[in-house]
Amino acid sequence: MKWQGRRGSSNVEDRRGSGGGRGGGGKLIGGGIGGIILVVVVTLLSGGNVGDILGNLTSGGTAATTDTPYQETAEEQELAQFVSVVLADTEDVWSELFARQGLTYTDPTLVLYSGSVNSACGTASSAVGPFYCPGDSKLYIDLSFYDELQQRFKAPGDFAMAYVIAHEVGHHVQTLLGTTKELDAYRRTLSETEYNKYQVRFELQADYLAGVWANHAQGMNLLEEGDLEEALTAASAVGDDTIQKQAQGYAVPDSFTHGTSEQRKRWFYKGFNNGTIAGGDTFKATEL
Ligand SMILES: [Zn+2]
Repeated sequence: MKWQGRRGSSNVEDRRGSGGGRGGGGKLIGGGIGGIILVVVVTLLSGGNVGDILGNLTSGGTAATTDTPYQETAEEQELAQFVSVVLADTEDVWSELFARQGLTYTDPTLVLYSGSVNSACGTASSAVGPFYCPGDSKLYIDLSFYDELQQRFKAPGDFAMAYVIAHEVGHHVQTLLGTTKELDAYRRTLSETEYNKYQVRFELQADYLAGVWANHAQGMNLLEEGDLEEALTAASAVGDDTIQKQAQGYAVPDSFTHGTSEQRKRWFYKGFNNGTIAGGDTFKATEL
């Protein structure tokens, strides 16, 4: 992706090195309303604690505290800059798309952290992976996830990381559009198996919205050779079936909360082709 020398977002909060225990991310409400998207604990994933993009956030862990100021490497500095440019791009795209519908987009904040972090959705360790908390409208990311993507998920490339950020921003868009509330209502009234089906639709919609953003990135001529494939590879790598097979040797469809690799790729690609919010109603789609 062409990102160097471009505008970075001012909505980045750098909490690296501050430790989760003193990050000041607002009061902890554990599995309360704010945590709805993320706090369905998927115990099936052994080695577990995989985060939003992968599975679900486990809240309520103990945060480590440290007084050492964070020393970033040149590589981390570059990655932080990249993330900030991608976030700025999502701000531009979503502001424009909301405005077209007569709506106002409010920017989310992206929190960079290392090790563990406090959010309105609870305390999380970086083992959970990147996540979005509707309770404070913030995206949380430990940049070491970039290495995880390359090594564990075999999804290298800057656009794989861009997809991850765009997916989390997608959850912010869903919160602004009211879809998150809709899902929360299902959570309170349905059985876990039934609710999981909606959770999958919700996650696939975030993938669709990530694709919508990628469409506009392409429109701005920001994509480089291989970028689209990088995103599709990442979307596929974080499919429930792939992750479960990796973790336990087999997949349990009823427990899926994010969709299969095929579905995640398909909805990202659909968003990429459409470039509009319309067409992304995964809740009404007869086929996923
Ligand atoms: Zn998600």
